[in-house]
Amino acid sequence: YDDRDGKIWMDGKLVDWRAANVHLLTHALHYASSVFEGERCYSGKIFKSREHSERLLRSGDLLDMPIPYTVDQIEAAKAEVLAANNLKDAYVRAVAWRGSGMDMGVAARRNPVRMAVAVWEWGAYYGDAKFKGAKLDIARWKRPSPETIPTAAKAAGLYMICTMSKHAAEEKGCSDALFFDYRGYVAEATGANIFFVKDGEVHTPLPDAILNGITRQTVIGMLRDQGITVHERHIEARELEDMQQCWLTGTAAEVTPVGQIGDYTFEVGELTRKIATDYEKLVRS
Ligand code: PMP
Repeated sequence: YDDRDGKIWMDGKLVDWRAANVHLLTHALHYASSVFEGERCYSGKIFKSREHSERLLRSGDLLDMPIPYTVDQIEAAKAEVLAANNLKDAYVRAVAWRGSGMDMGVAARRNPVRMAVAVWEWGAYYGDAKFKGAKLDIARWKRPSPETIPTAAKAAGLYMICTMSKHAAEEKGCSDALFFDYRGYVAEATGANIFFVKDGEVHTPLPDAILNGITRQTVIGMLRDQGITVHERHIEARELEDMQQCWLTGTAAEVTPVGQIGDYTFEVGELTRKIATDYEKLVRS
């Protein structure tokens, strides 16, 4: 990903893709002082763009790392970098981090908070699982308590166990891993939220220890608009056995059916397919 042509927006200007570097003593590299967004641009328009910019700023605030840009400036940066790379359908990665400079240690208030936006083409996140149903491993790590780490932030530090769990899942031939949380409730996948269908009603974990995904909120709205009951609640591990359908939601994942979690299997059913299709239509409308 680093050796290619193109432009990246960095701290207010466009730089060559290969020159978008940071110093070794960047605070974020040592202490995970980094927050980010994953967004998708469809036919020239980023879906829920402002919501993503607002979440980025919120994540920065949650990490005591105010980002020195406004929502409008971030919106302009995203538009500028998409145009510079001549992309209309793209994944958009905005990232903000505490840089290097004055301090090198846990405390580094004097080091500037920096920001960049990179864009590139990125197709289906789970490949052909999008049609067949993804197979999920069960992660050996648990999503932490909001008293342990600010779980509402989209912060790099929360992804350490995601990378470890996804690597382990892929080694077993799975597409992703499902986390339970610190209490033992069903939580989320490594980069997506989870939904279940049972007897025509939808169940999804309460967002009290997981990322309240923008796609998750969109899909709940779509379901309720169609008169479908959605229960946001704590879901216990033993309930997986009775769930009939399952899907993941996320900016990158969009709506991806799940066929299997560990030993539990799910049908790629009518409601799953309908929501996946409706979401595809919505993002392009
Ligand atoms: N949970 C995690 C851990 C994620 O990384 C993501 C992707 N941002 C999501 C859920 C889904 O969030 P969104 O729908 O806002 O992309």
